Formats: sequence, structure tokens, C-alpha cells
Amino acid sequence: MQIKKILKDKFGYKKFRANQEDIIKNIISGKDVFAAMPTGGGKSLCYQIPSIVFEGLSIVVSPLVSLMKDQVDEAAENGIKAAYINSTLTAEEAKNVYADLYRGDIKLLYLSPERLSIDGYFERLKELSVAFFAVDEAHCLSEWGHDFRPDYLNLSKIKKYFPDIPVAAFTATATLKVQKDIIRILKMDDPFIVRASFDRPELFYRVEQKDIVLDQILAFIKDRPGDSGIVYRTSRKDVEKTADYLTKHGIKALPYHAGLSNSVREKNQEKFNRDKINVICATIAFGMGINKLNVRYVVHGDLPKSIEGYYQETGRAGRDGLESQCLLLYGGSDVARVQYHIGNMTDEKEKAKAEENLWRMLGFAKANVCRRKMLLEYFNEDSGNNCGFCDVCTDLVEREDATIDSQKIMSAIIRSGEKFGILHIVDIVCGADTEKIRKFNHEKLKTWGAGKDKSKKWWKSVIEELIMQDALIKDSESYNALKLTQKGSNILYGREKFYVIKKKEKKKTVEELSRQLGIAKYDKDMFQMLKDYRFELAVERNVPPYIIFSDKSLKDMCIIKPVDNSSFLRVTGVGERKLEEYGPLFIPRIKEYLGY
Ligand code: ADP
Ligand code: ZN
Repeated sequence: MQIKKILKDKFGYKKFRANQEDIIKNIISGKDVFAAMPTGGGKSLCYQIPSIVFEGLSIVVSPLVSLMKDQVDEAAENGIKAAYINSTLTAEEAKNVYADLYRGDIKLLYLSPERLSIDGYFERLKELSVAFFAVDEAHCLSEWGHDFRPDYLNLSKIKKYFPDIPVAAFTATATLKVQKDIIRILKMDDPFIVRASFDRPELFYRVEQKDIVLDQILAFIKDRPGDSGIVYRTSRKDVEKTADYLTKHGIKALPYHAGLSNSVREKNQEKFNRDKINVICATIAFGMGINKLNVRYVVHGDLPKSIEGYYQETGRAGRDGLESQCLLLYGGSDVARVQYHIGNMTDEKEKAKAEENLWRMLGFAKANVCRRKMLLEYFNEDSGNNCGFCDVCTDLVEREDATIDSQKIMSAIIRSGEKFGILHIVDIVCGADTEKIRKFNHEKLKTWGAGKDKSKKWWKSVIEELIMQDALIKDSESYNALKLTQKGSNILYGREKFYVIKKKEKKKTVEELSRQLGIAKYDKDMFQMLKDYRFELAVERNVPPYIIFSDKSLKDMCIIKPVDNSSFLRVTGVGERKLEEYGPLFIPRIKEYLGY
């Protein structure tokens, strides 16, 4: 069968996303494949379609045991015969699955890695006619990844037992080190390698200075009633505090962190997954394994420890491809907190790494360039032009050329011998008459009083900004004396410019922005009606709502307004199976709403 036809008939999609077609074709032709694609890039389809095409059984190894049931339900919704085997099955249930497998009734099997470490398991699999292995979350193989799992090393036996079938590895981790590990450990044979762009054009990145953080979070959420979102906080205490605060103000929110029992965590995640609450407040313990497609925003109430982490966490928004918001709140206290944590590290190598991560993260938060550009550059991707869809690009912030003021500061630093800290340097520039100034004869410096016209607060902020942007360092070995870096001297001698970011007084709201960008032209009441109905059905069938239809499909219904089968089929995400199952349920509702 033609794969384009499968895409349309089974999944209801008209076009492949970037790289999907190449990946699928290579797998079908029997080649090994390594694919790094961002979250939401559409990896599942890349193994599901081959599983339909291949005679025999396709096996997907995945560590996300709690997701398998939903994944199997989802595949079944699209008419694929799927099953899973992991520790959550009873012996009886497992027996039934094996019976189905031996009968050849199953095309796609989700398998947890710990099964593969059972002695003789590979021999058992060999009795089945296995056609293809997919390894999901493949970065779990690598100690360089952020989620190494020793069980995964057993996957190196796949090629020993099944030398002739294709193996495909999928991950959302982009580094080359991890890629090398995966290819080596799986013993892939000259694999077809895909490194998709890590750009997530549907995500709007915004960074704001922390003020009263709980109120900032509350205001942001109140602006988006009914939407699903994640609020990340660093400490468990803050997670609890945030969830309480939101609940007190009428938001349906629950906490999630490693201090809660497994069952509470699972329950809370499930409620979030099924749209029974809107907000989950979480530490980074809430992560892999969120399969929810309609997360509309991710808020970071504290500065994350690294850009990699920040990218993974924000990446959980907008997996349905619809516009979503990422808000990062940070303040000076964040830096102090992380530095304290780093100070307590004993391993020098780890310490240096943590420090570098922190500075890069801060660089991102303080950046005066397009946020997306910075992120993509972090992943070694050349992003070209400004994105037009982040706070920097959309004028929520204003750049101010502060080259001259920064030169005044740096010249005072150089002329006083790079021996003094922030306060004294500010005193020099402001022309203060203090004992210390007189003691060192600093009133004789050319730059003494050169900045009288501006406040001390301004000069302090310029210095802080110069530190953030790596133009100055505070030398902790000589009483935090300020010293110039190479970048600093570039600015001082006019080879480079220096900008600070200022917030504009009047901000454009997100709604204004979407209007300006021509998004969100659909009937919101109809969308709500469909969402409510989907929720009802989901509860009735005991499945997460997104398994029935994604938000994107519902929105498409609000645009297409389908009142018969052929127009219903045009809705994205509607294939033959979904038409049959849900056409008779949704079409009458839509007609009723439209007054037919
Ligand atoms: P991930 O790469 O994170 O595993 P998924 O496979 O869950 O991503 O895909 C994310 C969403 O995108 C799902 O709703 C999926 O059905 C949808 N999707 C995948 N491929 C396409 C496509 N070609 N056209 C439209 N939607 C797609
Ligand atoms: Zn931008």
C-alpha cells in the first residue's frame, strides 16, 4: 500500500511532516534509521506506518510504561492492531497478549526494556515473525543523555538475534555525543540519519523579570481560562505553595513532585491528562511521558539550570502544533540560589559544567536577540532571520543602545586598575565624594563624575548587565573586583556595541498578537462546545480526550464546519476509522450548533 494513502486513510493527515516520509521509506526498504526530532515532531507515525506496511510484527521498545496503554488505545483508534507488554499487566493479561502474538493477530507491540533483560526473552521473540524494531526515547541508552537507563543496554542484543531486520532509533535529544552512543550501542549498520530542525515555530517565548512571582503566575493563567498548562518550580515547597495559591484563586491546579507518593503523582498526572484539572504545578520530576497534546502553556517560575532542560520542558507545550506560550520568570535571587547549589558541588568537573550551563541560561534570559535564535544556536542550528514570534521580536521589549554608558563604566574600571567592586565604581562614575574616593585620589580620574546625570541605580544595572553579557567578570579571588573580558574591551574600544533591554510600558497582549498574526480565526463558542462534548465522551469511554480528537482537529471542525461525511473527512486527524466512529457522534452536534 502506498504510504501517502495510509497517512490519509488511517490517520486522516494530508501531508507528511518534515522528514517523516524519508524515515518511513528508509525503514520500509530495510535500512537502519537514527532520527533526532523535537517533541511533537511526529515520531510515532514513523514507526506506526511501517508496522502497517510490514508483514509480521513490529516491536517498539519504550521506557514510558505509564503511557503504553494510551498509545495502544490511540493506535487502535486509528485501526492498528496493537498491544503492550510491561509490568502493569497481570499474568493472565500477559498470557492473552502472548496468545494473540503467536496467532499473528498483532501488528504493533509496545515493550518495556526490562522485559528484554529477562533471560531467554530474545529467544522467545525469535519464535515470532518480527519484522522491525523501533527504539523510542533512545537517548536512554547513552550516559551522556539526561535519562540513562541501564536496562536499555540490553538492546544491543537486537542485532545479534535479528541481524536482518531494520532497527530505528528515535530521540528528542539533539547532541552529537548521544547520537554516536546510540548508533554504536545498537550496532546500527550505516544508518540513515535524520537530524530534524529543533525549531518549534508554534511556541512563543517570553521572559519577564520576577516581581511577585505567585501573582505573576496567577495573572498569566487567569488570562487563559480553560487552557491546560504546566507551571515548573524548582523546589517542592514552591510547587506546593503555587498549587495552593492557584487553587485559592479558583484555578483547578494540583502539585506533582518526587515527595508525593507514587499513587498521588499518578492520580494528579491522570487528572491533568484527562482535562479534569487545568494546571499542574511541578518540579522537573514531571517530564518524560507527558503525552498530552494540548498543553497550551509552560510557565517557569524559577530560572532552569540549563538551556537543554528549559528546551525540553517548554517543548511539552503545543505538541498538537497549535500556538502555545512559554513564560520564564527570573530574578537575581535565582542566580544566587543556583550559585549556592553549585558552590556545594564537590566534583570539579560537574561544577564547571553546572556553572557554564547557568551562565548560558542567564545569557538566554537576558538576551537582547531573538529568543528562538539563541535556542537554535545552542543546538548548533543556524536560524537565519529573527523569528517574529518571541517577546524580543514582537516589541514587548525594547533594546537600548548603552554603548557609551558602558564605556564610561569600563573606563572607570580600567583607570582605577581593575581593583574595585561595583559600589565604588558607581561612586566614581557618579562623582561621589567619599573617604575611599579621596584615599585613592579617584576624584582626579577623567571619568570621575562622568555619569552624574543618571541615577546610581541605572549605573548599577549597567554593570550587572555587563556581567550578564560576559563583558565584565567579578573576580571572587580579589574581593569581587570588576575586570574586563575580551568582549568588554571590544566594547570599550568601539569594536562592538552594547545593548540593554527595557520593557515597554504598554505590552501587547497575546490576543492582540495572535490577531495581528492572523491566528485564532475560528468560532470560539463552537470550539468550547466540541471540547465539552469530547470531554463527556472521554469520561464515558475512560480514555484521555486527545485520543478522541486533538484540539487541532476540533479547531479544524470550527473552520470547516463539516455537516456530512465527506467534509468531516477533510478535518485534519480524521481518517476512515475516526469517520466511522465519530462522524455519527460529532456531525449531528455540529449541525445542531449551526442551526440545521
Ligand atoms: P512525538 O514526536 O513527540 O512522539 P507525536 O508522534 O506524538 O510526536 O506527534 C505529535 C502530534 O502530531 C500527534 O497528534 C500526531 O498525530 C500529529 N502528527 C504526526 N504526524 C502528522 C502529520 N503528518 N500531519 C499532521 N499531524 C501529524
Ligand atoms: Zn524571535
